[in-house]
Amino acid sequence: MSQPAPSAASRPALLRFLGGVRTVTGSKFLVESDHARILVDCGLFQGVADLRRRNWDKLPCDARDIHAVVITHAHLDHCGYLPRLVRHGFRGPILAGAATARLAEIVLRDSARLQMEAAEHANRHGWSKHRPAKPLYDDDDVDHTVSFFDPVPVGSDIEIMAGTGLRLHHGGHILGSAWVRLTLEDGHTLVVSGDLGRPGHPLLLPPEPFTGADVLLVESTYGNRRHDHESAQREFASVITRTLSRGGTVVIPAFAIDRTEVVLHELATMRGDGSLPRHVPVYVDSPMALAALDVYRDAIRSHSPELRPEVLAVGEAVISPDPFLAARTVQESIDINNTAGPAIIVSSAGMATGGRVLHHLHRILPDPRNAVVIVGFAAAGTRSRDLVDGARNLKMFGEYVPVRAEVADVPHFSAHADADQILDWLGAAPAPHTTYLVHGEETAAETLRDRISDELGWTAVVPRSGEAVLVR
Ligand SMILES: [Zn+2]
Repeated sequence: MSQPAPSAASRPALLRFLGGVRTVTGSKFLVESDHARILVDCGLFQGVADLRRRNWDKLPCDARDIHAVVITHAHLDHCGYLPRLVRHGFRGPILAGAATARLAEIVLRDSARLQMEAAEHANRHGWSKHRPAKPLYDDDDVDHTVSFFDPVPVGSDIEIMAGTGLRLHHGGHILGSAWVRLTLEDGHTLVVSGDLGRPGHPLLLPPEPFTGADVLLVESTYGNRRHDHESAQREFASVITRTLSRGGTVVIPAFAIDRTEVVLHELATMRGDGSLPRHVPVYVDSPMALAALDVYRDAIRSHSPELRPEVLAVGEAVISPDPFLAARTVQESIDINNTAGPAIIVSSAGMATGGRVLHHLHRILPDPRNAVVIVGFAAAGTRSRDLVDGARNLKMFGEYVPVRAEVADVPHFSAHADADQILDWLGAAPAPHTTYLVHGEETAAETLRDRISDELGWTAVVPRSGEAVLVR
C-alpha cells in the first residue's frame, strides 16, 4: 500500500519468525534491512518443557549485532528474554512506552527471582536434568537490562536509526501496551499487533484501529473463539458467591499485570453492590502484582490517555475492593494460610507455573468447599490448563495433590481481543501484501487465517518457527 522509493542500495528487509508462532509464548520477530537489525518483542517461551527448552537455544544472529529492540508490552511472553539477550551482548536501546518500561522492570525482576529459586530448588532436591541447574538469567542481568530501556512516546514518529522509523499506537491490552509500525529503509512498512486488547476492557480504551501496512503480523490467541464478557462477569460473580456460601476459599491465579487489576475491579464492583460481604477478606498475594498495581494507580492519578474516562472520573477506588489486604512479605503470605473462614486470594503466576499461588493451591485443592477460578488464557502444559482440563491430581513441589475443589474456567476475562474483535480491528484498512498470523496455538492461528482470507480476501499465512520472508 505504500509507495516505496527504493534507493539503488536498499534491498527488501528480511523478517524472521524466531518465536511466538504456532504458540502463544516466546514472541520474537527479527527485521533485517541493509543497515538496521531490529528485534520486535523479546519474549520468553513458557509452558511445556519442549518450549521452555527453546529459551536455551542460540539466536540465528549474534545479540551484539542487533541494533535495537522494540517491546510491545510488559508481559513475560513479550519481554522475558531481554536479560538473556543482554547477557549475550546486546547493547542497543530497548524502545517501549513509558508504562511498559516501568512494568517490564517489575516483570523481569520477578522472572529472575523465580528462575533463581527454581534452579536452587532443583539443585537442593536433585530433580533437574542439568547439574548444576542454572537460571536463564539473574538479578544482575536484569539490572543491566533495565539500563537500556529508552521510553518513547506513543503516537509520535521517531527514528530508530537513519532511514528506519518507529511509531507506537495504543494497544488497549494492558497498561502501556502498543502495536508497532516500522518504516523500513526502502520505504516498506511493517506492523506488529503485539497483543490486542478487547474493546470491552473495563479500564483501558480500545486499541487504535489498524490503518494499513505492507506486511502485518497479527496475534491470534483467541483466533477461534468468541468472548462473552457479560456472561463471564456473571459466572465470575456466581462462583464466588457459591463458594463463599459453602464456607470455602477462592483462589484466583492472576497474571500479575492487568488481570489482577481487572479482577480487583470486578471485586470492587461486587463490594459496591453488596454481593461480596465486607467481612470476607480479599488478599493480593504477589509482590509483583502489588508493584504493578502501583503503576496502574499512578496512571489513574496522572489521567493517562489510555484509560477510560469513567475510570478517571471514579479514581483509584475503581480497583480497590476495600478492605483488601496486600501480602508483600513471605511471612504475610504464610499468614494467609492461618486465617480461618472464607477468603478470596488473588495470587500469581497466572498459569500457576510458579510463584506463591502454588502454596495456596496446595492447601485449598483437596477441600471440595473451595474453588479455583482461572481467569485468563491457560497455555498447554501449564497447571492452569491441567485444572481446566479436569486433572484429578496436580503435581507441585515434587508430589501429587488431589483436586477436589471446584474449578471454574472464566477465560473471557482475558485481556485479548477475540476473533470478531480482531477482524473489526483490521476493519477498513487496505489489504497488506501479506498478513501473518502469530501468537496463537495452531488451530487458533489457522482458524483466524481462514477467516481473514475468506471474509477480507487478504493473503493470510501461518508462518513456521524460524521461517524468513521478505517485507515487500
Ligand atoms: Zn500480553
